[in-house]
Amino acid sequence: MEPNMTSLIMIFGATGDLAKRKLFPSLYRLFERGKLSEQFAVIGVARRQLSNDGFQQSVKESVAAALGEKGNLDQFASHFYYQSHDVSDSDSYISLKKLADEIDEHYHLNGNRIFYLAMAPEFFGTIALHLKADGLTDVTGYKRLVIEKPFGHDLESAKELNKQIRTAFSEEEIYRIDHYLGKEMVRNIEVIRFANAIFEPLWNNRYISNIQITSSETLGVEERGRYYDSSGALRDMLQNHMLQIVALLAMEPPISLTTDEIRSEKVRVFRSLRTIESHEISDYFVRGQYGEGIINGEQVPKYRDEPMVDTESNTETFVAGKVMIDNFRWAGVPFYIRTGKRMETKSTKVVIQFKDIPMNLYYQPEKMLNPNLLVIHIQPEEGLTLHLNAKQAGGHLNAQEVKLSFSNSGTYTMNTPEGYEKLLFDCMRGDATNFTHWDEVAYSWAFVDKISQVWARTKADFPNYPSGSMGPEAADRLLEKDGYHWWPITDLEVENCR
Ligand code: NAP
Repeated sequence: MEPNMTSLIMIFGATGDLAKRKLFPSLYRLFERGKLSEQFAVIGVARRQLSNDGFQQSVKESVAAALGEKGNLDQFASHFYYQSHDVSDSDSYISLKKLADEIDEHYHLNGNRIFYLAMAPEFFGTIALHLKADGLTDVTGYKRLVIEKPFGHDLESAKELNKQIRTAFSEEEIYRIDHYLGKEMVRNIEVIRFANAIFEPLWNNRYISNIQITSSETLGVEERGRYYDSSGALRDMLQNHMLQIVALLAMEPPISLTTDEIRSEKVRVFRSLRTIESHEISDYFVRGQYGEGIINGEQVPKYRDEPMVDTESNTETFVAGKVMIDNFRWAGVPFYIRTGKRMETKSTKVVIQFKDIPMNLYYQPEKMLNPNLLVIHIQPEEGLTLHLNAKQAGGHLNAQEVKLSFSNSGTYTMNTPEGYEKLLFDCMRGDATNFTHWDEVAYSWAFVDKISQVWARTKADFPNYPSGSMGPEAADRLLEKDGYHWWPITDLEVENCR
């Protein structure tokens, strides 16, 4: 048991989707695994009227829906309290403080508080200002703010939000969630890189020709049309998750595994991103929006026909880009990234393509040697595949591709912990390594703003890819003009091995 796991967690937005689907089940899993002490309590905050009993019932239902019926749910749920509260009303904070102080005393929580903002982002600044003004952050223990994405809409709004939350919390107390950083194989990137003598010497522009990162979804916008139509794939996925993966792949080895050292190496990657000027955007980035098509045998509508989406919408549901990192290690190596909705398959993968060998002794007229690939499977399957060439069994010295695979699901029979579970645990331990520092947020917005400003000014010829495809043809041409192609995701599946 970690000594500082005692905490009062206040969840703002406790009746919402995120709280029910992710936060309550994740807290339960920590409880079940003995990682929470008996000294923890949760106050759920939202506007609707609910009794403590009613809230506890909803917590139990959420956990059961996610994880199945559990024997100790009553014991777990007894730690949950509810306050009906409008976050823009000052009076509510006074009664919230009173409740928090009572619970703190009852459970001996030593004044440790985590404020989790699981609400629409327009409330983040207001809540932080009230927490300070109404005394909720005057504590004897630690105070931490966990804040969901999106962190701003562009650099200016992110700065404004940051200014507001910094009035109540120091940078060390702010935990900006990027749930990709909770994913097992995203966390594995640094171990794969820095714990293997065979990779680190090759991890540079002398041996790697290009890196491809794909995060594709088959889902459309579902019920998130209102939010998504003002956001788009660039802000929703690329500014945060995709650039975070780039930073982990490209960073220098940290001198130690402390939060500061790792984050500062990541920040150096963001500082090295090549700035793309307005007139060059189309050389580096491609946008797309899905038309109608077939997903899993079902006809699906085009984006502009989705609920709460503008019928003339100029919002991109797909983005592909070439990111260049202008430093000594990576000069000349393109990092191609693409992400989109309503694509052929649901998958997040990284493909590291190594340069061709200097001379090919095993050339076959009908087939060149395959380049070596290292594929990191992030989701849905978790694993690693190394593509090599080896002699074909029997006969001549013909080479054929062989794959060495490692699969998490084959090795660990139980599910690896869910991302939110790991991130909540990290926050309770005070480990901010897998949360984004303000500098990372600021640099990534500065990079993305250059693109979004140009796209906002120019009308796109949408829709430009059918649902069920891998995006617009222009995304293929982005690589073709450099002499590369996207490795087909469906050919790269990890093979389960034990
Ligand atoms: P949601 O389902 O719309 O929930 C919003 C919550 O805020 C509800 O509990 C609502 O309860 C409460 N609320 C709204 N206005 C309020 C007010 N004035 N005062 C107090 N409470 C208020 O939203 P969500 O999907 O859970 O998303 C929450 C945050 O997480 C967002 O920032 C979102 O971008 C982020 N996020 C969500 C997901 C996800 O899977 N859902 C994934 C990644 C990030 P009442 O109506 O009872 O007030």
